[in-house]
Amino acid sequence: MGKTEKYDHMKLIREYAGGHKNLITLGRCLAAVSAVLTLIPFYELWKIIRTAVNGEDPGKISVYAWIAVALIVGALLVYIAALFCTHIAAFRVQANMRSSLMRRIITLPLGVFDEDGTGKIRRIVNDSTAATETYIAHSLADKTVALVTPIGLLVLVFAFNWKIGLITMIPAVIGFLCMMSMMGKGMQEKMKQYQDALETMSSEATEYVRGIPVVKTFGQTVHSFKRFKACIDGYGKWTTDYTLKLRFPMMGFMTCINAIFAFIVLAAFVFTKNGTSSADILNIMYYIIVTPLVTVALTKIAYSGEAEMNLIDALKRVDQIMEIEPLKEQNTGKKPADHGIELKNVSYRYKGAARDAVSNVSLSIKAGEHVALVGPSGSGKTTLAELLVRFFDVTEGEILIGGVNVKELPSGDLMEQVSFVFQDSRLIKKSILENVRMAKPEASEEEVLSALEKAQCMDIIEKLPNGIHTVIGEKGTYLSGGEQQRITIARAVLKDAPILILDEATAFADPDNETKVQAAFEELSKNKTLIMIAHRLSTVVNADRIFVMEDGKCTEFGSHNELMDQNGLYKRMFEEYTRSIEWKVGA
Ligand code: ADP
Ligand code: MG
Repeated sequence: MGKTEKYDHMKLIREYAGGHKNLITLGRCLAAVSAVLTLIPFYELWKIIRTAVNGEDPGKISVYAWIAVALIVGALLVYIAALFCTHIAAFRVQANMRSSLMRRIITLPLGVFDEDGTGKIRRIVNDSTAATETYIAHSLADKTVALVTPIGLLVLVFAFNWKIGLITMIPAVIGFLCMMSMMGKGMQEKMKQYQDALETMSSEATEYVRGIPVVKTFGQTVHSFKRFKACIDGYGKWTTDYTLKLRFPMMGFMTCINAIFAFIVLAAFVFTKNGTSSADILNIMYYIIVTPLVTVALTKIAYSGEAEMNLIDALKRVDQIMEIEPLKEQNTGKKPADHGIELKNVSYRYKGAARDAVSNVSLSIKAGEHVALVGPSGSGKTTLAELLVRFFDVTEGEILIGGVNVKELPSGDLMEQVSFVFQDSRLIKKSILENVRMAKPEASEEEVLSALEKAQCMDIIEKLPNGIHTVIGEKGTYLSGGEQQRITIARAVLKDAPILILDEATAFADPDNETKVQAAFEELSKNKTLIMIAHRLSTVVNADRIFVMEDGKCTEFGSHNELMDQNGLYKRMFEEYTRSIEWKVGA
């Protein structure tokens, strides 16, 4: 925790700014010049008051006034120039941050992009970089002004009458101390909690909106979304605590900085007790005009402190992504000898999980063999399949494809070996043609059509207004889950990789779709090594071998008949499955 104080945000910003870092310095210098220029007119004002009080030549007043106006206009122009510099630098920093983030994200293991992960990454790429941009563009210049102004004011205040100056400083210093107490290192932690709370609330809200159909159809209330409610309550409590904690320092700050007037009146009283001189009146009038500036300057410092805490939080979030270990790529030049797969004592544990999701699994699949992975939900089937394509790297053991460790294959080569049809493969908002072509960008329209045909998709295409050029999700052209699944199978057909992994790919299919999907799979898996994860056991009966997963371990394997003879988990699952089918038929 002690580290938070040393966080050198300016160094990081300058790194991101690259060649534009001098613009940041220039912007800050200009802002400082502008702050000084803004203060000088107050000296002119003092001269105007002196002229008036001493009854000197009134003609001088307009000269002073014009000088003051010129200086203010000058200060404004310089300030605009300062903002111009900081804005250019800020845009550059934001662009550089986003591109380094994107460059990093591309190298990350695919497992980072599960549903939670993508939302978080999107927020960081958009929001945290935007917060940094705002800080550099606006807050940096303001902060410089906020720092220079009090120093200039001090000089002004003390130059005219140090005794009155000293008295007006008392409330300013107390106010400043109150402000500092609001911004200690505890506050940085608070700021993080605040941003975290906002983050969870926003992702829970998304979850809630997604769940509305369930809530409505099952007649539930908001309270069924316990997590959503809990995080709103938590956020409410947090805000209340935070506000209460700041109540006294904030009261102190506001009271002090607004009390400077009262102190001047006091000073006036003390210093004019023994008769007034025109010099005293001059100074007191002057102070009454100048001291509100102290208030404004202190308030600005307070706000710039808050902006800085926001910035540090944003930068740390960006760091979180930059610190994720990229997938290590090796190019050993090794080529898989065939399309067989071998797992040797493979274990994998998700970060922060208490136990292995896949635990000491050894199995080998011959090239061209068709195998099935079955087992209760949560037994590690998806994780095992994802390890094959390096969504994550195994915690222990090794995975070989054609005798080569997957870590020694460049990811491009690995991806060429394997097609993966996910349980919830989604189509993107593009035409069917483009969606299928993602698997092989150089494919001709004929190739795509033939892939769609093999994947039994022609009935879908025929009912669409523009055939394969129809954009999905536009003008009411939505496809059912089963239909989308068939299109994603066409992708795999087009890719034509020698190893095919199907993860519960029939899960969405209605009976009509299912026969088509099955036919598509048969076509697709000819002469290929096939790993099929299925919960409808009817689809696995014909597999060459079936592996049964239980709590991350592979507990049984063999053909359907062998497993039925073993009288273990598979047999129980199969009997239950058959009963459920009979029950459906009976009903
Ligand atoms: P299956 O596909 O057999 O249903 P999974 O491979 O999806 O099982 O999950 C295996 C175990 O790993 C489960 O206990 C699950 O809760 C856990 N798990 C899955 N995905 C993640 C994840 N992204 N982070 C942490 N734990 C996970
Ligand atoms: Mg699964």
